Amino acid sequence: MVRVKRRSGHVVGDDVLVRGEVLERLPRRTELRRRDAMGGIHLVGANLDVLGVVVSPSPLPPAGFVDRVIVAARAANLRPFVVVNKYDLETAKGLVDELRDIYAGAVSVFPLSAVTGEGLPLLREFLAEGHRGVFVGTTGVGKSSLLNALCPEIDLRVGALNDYNGKGRHTTTVSTLHSLSDGGELVDTPGFQDFGLVDISAQDFADHFPGFEKTREVRCRFRNCRHRSEPGCAVIELVAKGEVRAERYAAYLEILSEVEG
Ligand code: GDP
Ligand code: ZN
Repeated sequence: MVRVKRRSGHVVGDDVLVRGEVLERLPRRTELRRRDAMGGIHLVGANLDVLGVVVSPSPLPPAGFVDRVIVAARAANLRPFVVVNKYDLETAKGLVDELRDIYAGAVSVFPLSAVTGEGLPLLREFLAEGHRGVFVGTTGVGKSSLLNALCPEIDLRVGALNDYNGKGRHTTTVSTLHSLSDGGELVDTPGFQDFGLVDISAQDFADHFPGFEKTREVRCRFRNCRHRSEPGCAVIELVAKGEVRAERYAAYLEILSEVEG
């Protein structure tokens, strides 16, 4: 028998070699961290491939939330995707159109309903491509409902927020890894409703903001360009040409200032 100590430094998703009673952790392909409300940093999981940001028409995501999560995912080398839950609600269509418009092609958007099950097969198919994923979403968007629908043995309590600081819903604080019946894996991480940006520098933000992908072809003159007023900035050029919309650029500048603190 091999015991894994709580403070052994292993996290969900780690690959290990067992040598007698000793576990040797293999190098991690990816590491995902989050910051909690008190500023503490937690390693959420290792070797994750994809990160789904779950939103809903009610409650709507806070301003900038989806962009921040996408940047955090990309900076950690995870492929981001967006889930619009509660597609059974009338108001969801507008949100899906808006997100598809913003992220056109850069980030996949999966409209679905954890309650009626519509749209779930497409997400299952995506995860079955051998992905190990994790979901992030603000409280009330239906993240627990979605995990239950994809993976019934998780059996999370829905709508049972009973703790003022929002961490009391799950009775455990341990992350768990679940295999899906069609393929793929999901990590459930209690307390991951609110995604604190960790290890995101202003430069990460400038490099990974969704919508600026074209600058991988037409590069900014300076490698560390923050796309504000630098000469030879490809983003400013794209905005001038109308290939990046002014609202998107404004959203970028606003979040950039926040990230720069
Ligand atoms: P979480 O806080 O993100 O884990 O959200 P929950 O899974 O606890 O769900 C929050 C509320 O949204 C509950 O009242 C759910 O019944 C409801 N809900 C979850 N998924 C759906 C959905 O697809 N459609 C509708 N109409 N309501 C949903
Ligand atoms: Zn630039």
